[in-house]
Amino acid sequence: MDALYLIFFMLIVLIGSVLGYIYYLKEKKEQLDSIGRGFCPRCKQNTIVLIDKRSHGCCGPQTVSFECEACGYTNSFVVQNDSCGI
Ligand SMILES: [Zn+2]
Repeated sequence: MDALYLIFFMLIVLIGSVLGYIYYLKEKKEQLDSIGRGFCPRCKQNTIVLIDKRSHGCCGPQTVSFECEACGYTNSFVVQNDSCGI
């Protein structure tokens, strides 16, 4: 009976973390969409600037960092590098 409770508990923890991760990804995507249009996700001003861009090798994903000059919002995103030739 104890094992059943343990499995049930672990299942809830697992579902909770999966939902949390999905929510995190969704929020991250919305922020990236906003930045892609040139607007800060926090203060909605068009003061967002690219501060850092790092690629992990030739064809790997890139890490890009943005900063808002108006409210100080910073975030980094991992994006796929489309420009690499096949
Ligand atoms: Zn801002």
